[in-house]
Amino acid sequence: MPVEEIKLTARFKVDLTDVDEATISEIHRLFKEYQRIVNELIEYAHLHRITSFISLHHAKYRELRQRHSTLPSNYIFTACRLATSIYESFIELKKMGMCEKERPTFKGQVIWLDNHLFKLDVEGWRASIAVHGGRWIALRLLHGRYHDKFKDMKPGEARLMLKDNGNLYLNVAFRRAVVLPEVGADAKVIAVDVNENVIVYGNDDFIERFETNEGIIRTRYFLKRRRIQSKIRKRELQARLLGKYRGRERHRVEEIYYRAAKEIISKAKEVGATVIVMENLEVYKEDKDSRELNGRIHRWGYKRFQRILEYQAKLHGLNVKYVDPAYTSSICPICGDELEESLNGRRLMRCRRCGLEEDRDAIAVRNLTRRYYEEYMDAKTP
Ligand SMILES: [Zn+2]
Repeated sequence: MPVEEIKLTARFKVDLTDVDEATISEIHRLFKEYQRIVNELIEYAHLHRITSFISLHHAKYRELRQRHSTLPSNYIFTACRLATSIYESFIELKKMGMCEKERPTFKGQVIWLDNHLFKLDVEGWRASIAVHGGRWIALRLLHGRYHDKFKDMKPGEARLMLKDNGNLYLNVAFRRAVVLPEVGADAKVIAVDVNENVIVYGNDDFIERFETNEGIIRTRYFLKRRRIQSKIRKRELQARLLGKYRGRERHRVEEIYYRAAKEIISKAKEVGATVIVMENLEVYKEDKDSRELNGRIHRWGYKRFQRILEYQAKLHGLNVKYVDPAYTSSICPICGDELEESLNGRRLMRCRRCGLEEDRDAIAVRNLTRRYYEEYMDAKTP
């Protein structure tokens, strides 16, 4: 049976009750220093238009290492990675017109820890964090029943987070192996097609629609942001409000994605499907610079949805496969001929060769299903 690894994040609150003042101020100092390093790296990346980790690391690592000589060097390493990812998403958001700032800054109180910078003892629920001069700080982690499932998993990376109220959290990414069912030529699949306001899923036997209204939600938030920009003059307040609404929008849309994923997975279980099939969006990469704003924002959400569905599906023991999406809504799933719009209705498509007449959404789902068998099962095109 195929085995795949998925990541699960465990969130721990650090027990600071018995931690002395000196240790707490050492931790705070570490956050400040790390934030300065990340910001210096972002600034450098911005100035030189560097979007790759390798280039940034190459340009700055040695120098930063010398200036922060007592800091464990892996902090510089993870700071380069964090800076690259912040700068990359800044550029992406800027392109989509979703970012008002001129330059990116890192205000977060977050430290990325790789396995050289922290140790975890899941039996005793303790973590050690590497600090200046090769010393380690031991911290007790608050834990509950929810954390028990992590005991037999491998810890990967972690993030240490300091909140404004002084609370300290440690988020640890664990890797877990999931055993997925073997897929033979007779495997049942569910294909998923994502449109702006609806997610359509199914196969040759059934078609279901999940209304997301995502486009409507996004437009509403877009207008809200425009109003804030024109009405609120104070820059700081404006930025705070924009950030708040952006967070709400993302939260709202993601919540819908999770519900959709849940519905699709339970339907898969119900009909005995073992594979979820989605479009491979990587092939759209070449028109990354396309000016069509709605399309790009949609694709951004689409990818987020795919990640959520893939993760949840694997967690529930379902395979996830991606297929070439070209022409899935414009060719006939029966004979492969080009479809034309039917005169009988706006959303209906018709094949002149074999006479098939079906809803646009159903066409896409049936083509994705068929393509899965072609690409993965070597089935012959009819
Ligand atoms: Zn046809």
